[in-house]
Amino acid sequence: MQIRDRYAPSPTGLQHIGGIRTALFNYLFAKSQGGQFILRLEDTDRARFDPSFVQNLYDTFEWLGIKWDEGPDVGGGTGPYIQSERFELYKKYAAELITKDKAYYCFCSAERLDRIREEREAARSSETGYDRHCRSISPTEAAERVKVGEAYTIRLKIPLGESTKFHDHLLGDIEWKNDDVNPDPVLLKSDGFPTYHLANIVDDHLMGITHVLRAQEWLSSTPLHVIMYAAFGWEHPEYCHLPMVMGQDGKKLSKRHGATSIDEFRRQGYIPEALLNYVALLGASYEEGKDIYTLDELAARFSLDKLNKAPAIFDYKKLEWYNGQYIRMKSDAELTELCLPYAIEAGLFGKAGDKPSPEQRSTFTAAMPLIKERLVFLQEAAEKPGYLFSEPSVPDAVEFIPKKMDLQQTISLLQQGRELVKPLAEAADDAGAEAFIKEWAEKNGVKLGDLMMPLRVAITGARVSPPLFGSLRILGVEKSLKRVDKALAALTTH
Ligand code: GLU
Ligand code: ZN
Repeated sequence: MQIRDRYAPSPTGLQHIGGIRTALFNYLFAKSQGGQFILRLEDTDRARFDPSFVQNLYDTFEWLGIKWDEGPDVGGGTGPYIQSERFELYKKYAAELITKDKAYYCFCSAERLDRIREEREAARSSETGYDRHCRSISPTEAAERVKVGEAYTIRLKIPLGESTKFHDHLLGDIEWKNDDVNPDPVLLKSDGFPTYHLANIVDDHLMGITHVLRAQEWLSSTPLHVIMYAAFGWEHPEYCHLPMVMGQDGKKLSKRHGATSIDEFRRQGYIPEALLNYVALLGASYEEGKDIYTLDELAARFSLDKLNKAPAIFDYKKLEWYNGQYIRMKSDAELTELCLPYAIEAGLFGKAGDKPSPEQRSTFTAAMPLIKERLVFLQEAAEKPGYLFSEPSVPDAVEFIPKKMDLQQTISLLQQGRELVKPLAEAADDAGAEAFIKEWAEKNGVKLGDLMMPLRVAITGARVSPPLFGSLRILGVEKSLKRVDKALAALTTH
């Protein structure tokens, strides 16, 4: 069997973690089976639709590097892939259900439906939904009323007194009493627009979808969908409702827990591969003892049998760890490319938006090995190497003073350090610089740490900084000496 699955977002909001998890699992499942992954836009809710959400969808997946085999932008044999371009089809299929006596016309006004709701509320009735008022209108009468132009909706005729069974790959056999299913829901609205349920199953059928992998919050719609497939005489796809994604507190992941929209993660400086790698683990396992996976490696290992029933907990710290790992796997050149946009935006090369001069660019590249080990977010690359681009202001004297030393001793340590600037800055690499300074410290009876502290503060402007030797090499002898002299001047006039 040719496996076909889909991601079917409604463009009524930004792409968020839950959505891309659904998309990713569908993608991985299709790839793992040599099948096809389809994108379909479910834009039937015109009130909440906004074209910017469609753009956000495309931008997000382009950034993530996930491609569909068929979709609005790439085409395919079962399009169009945008529901608003398929409205005629839904009308036709709704009419077909009327002919089959599986659906009926409802002429109830919005006022009548409101009134029922209010009456029930007043009576504290537990009944909800439609009261099936029009179900008993004879087909001839209904056809007559439609003909004379009376407004109508089309409702599904749920077979009563039966129950509906289906199998969910993760949750097992599920059975619902039809009497507990949404009573005769609307399929086609009075303006001719389909509801989600109608459009969703007509499209899944026409697009040859074999597997529906979707969030567990859709589970309650599934009995209804299974009833609709039966009404059409179609086979329904296989279902697998994915475990919920929760915050650390066990509540559904939301803004309260932190970033949820992919845009936010992107702005914070996440690497797309890191985000994908982590999201792939939300409710699934792949291989014992392996944490880092490429998309292809995930696809090769993905299996519906390795999904977890329990809700997945979204752990921001774990995601940060992944980001750090991916940052360290990048070459300096790759990391430069990734970090540049953040640095430009933050104004590292002048004012916000200024592009680097060739010299600044090579300094930035040279800074990568210095900051790479400690970087958690790409955005930090806009601040950490700041002292390499503009002279830091000289900190207060106390900042220079090593433990158990006083100002006079610190000044003389820095004077000694000054003599070492040239050999250190001209050393071939860290190992060379380190060997040199160690030997010098030993010979002169100074503690290495004491010697380096004031020098570090003079060069980088802070006690905690990226590696000193690399900084000296990048700045060069002249600039470094200038900073040391400035610091000495400040300390001696103190
Ligand atoms: N349009 C629905 C959504 O926004 C699709 C649900 C489904 O996959 O059936 O998630
Ligand atoms: Zn009615």
